[in-house]
Amino acid sequence: MRAAADILSLIGDTPLIRLNAASAATGCDIYGKAEFLNAGQSIKDRTALGLIQAARASGELKPGGTIVEGTAGNTGIGLAIVGAALGHPVVIVMPRSQTEEKKQAVRMHGARLVEVDPAPFASPNHFVHFSRRLAAQLNESEPNGAIYADQFDNLANRRTHYATTGREIWEQTEGRIDGFVCAAGTGGTLAGVSAYLREQKADIAIALADPPGAALHSWFTRGVLESHGSSVTEGIGVNRITGNLEGLTVDHAWRIEDEEALALLFDLVRDEGLSLGPSSGVNIAGAIRLGRALGPGKTIVTVLCDPGQRYAGKIYNPAFLRTRGIAVPSWLEGA
Ligand code: PMP
Repeated sequence: MRAAADILSLIGDTPLIRLNAASAATGCDIYGKAEFLNAGQSIKDRTALGLIQAARASGELKPGGTIVEGTAGNTGIGLAIVGAALGHPVVIVMPRSQTEEKKQAVRMHGARLVEVDPAPFASPNHFVHFSRRLAAQLNESEPNGAIYADQFDNLANRRTHYATTGREIWEQTEGRIDGFVCAAGTGGTLAGVSAYLREQKADIAIALADPPGAALHSWFTRGVLESHGSSVTEGIGVNRITGNLEGLTVDHAWRIEDEEALALLFDLVRDEGLSLGPSSGVNIAGAIRLGRALGPGKTIVTVLCDPGQRYAGKIYNPAFLRTRGIAVPSWLEGA
């Protein structure tokens, strides 16, 4: 028999796929790590598994204990899968502004979904603070206790990307990688992958791609946390140095406008048969800039975080694009 032992063994070991237009535009070899092929269809399945394995190993999460997390959605979907497979109830707190498709996926994987109004991080109603309080309450009331998974500040997040995503990229490129670039939500991917790759190759170029409304671009270029504008992207764009971002340095940082990221995504659908979520567009835009910065002939890797289907009602919806003044690709007209 050739069969996976369970759903958890279908997290990680994703392939690299060559991004042909991005490679042609730069003269580099640009590859995307196909994280949309994970069991729960996003990069955050790895984080979910890593957080829960660490919490079980330390004894903090008891058998049958409840898992609570605040998330833009993908970590919630991953946790719902991991929780079900390992026998833990899961409660997910999401800002109402995130896509219906992600909320549905959280529910369809058996987790309880709590929606909250979007609020700034300084407000006690921000989903992170709300979910931390909820975890403390459930820890008192649930028979087997509850934990707050804490993807932003729990370093098991970046350790997972160090041990899996980073190592896989190094092995898959057979050490030929010259640069890695991605956006940051918690920063776990960027920090974990870059730490692993720099250990293998000290002069590898590490770059951040930041959406409008995020503060890491100003942090890495000017040493101050400042943000302006807003973005249709989800799951990326942070305004503070999370625990997982602490100590990280990058060689390049770019701010990527939504129009640029979405145009790249729409071309990928038409020309390469790849339908991806908006953070992948920011990442690919970053990879093209990194290719131009490093010059032709280099090998660059970025992350294809989740599938376009998860944003059917938003960036793949002509009516939504029109409200944002974003050009609708001809193949999507009439959809
Ligand atoms: N893209 C998407 C679609 C995401 O959901 C996330 C995580 N919130 C990221 C990118 C960013 O990953 P990380 O949290 O590791 O920075």
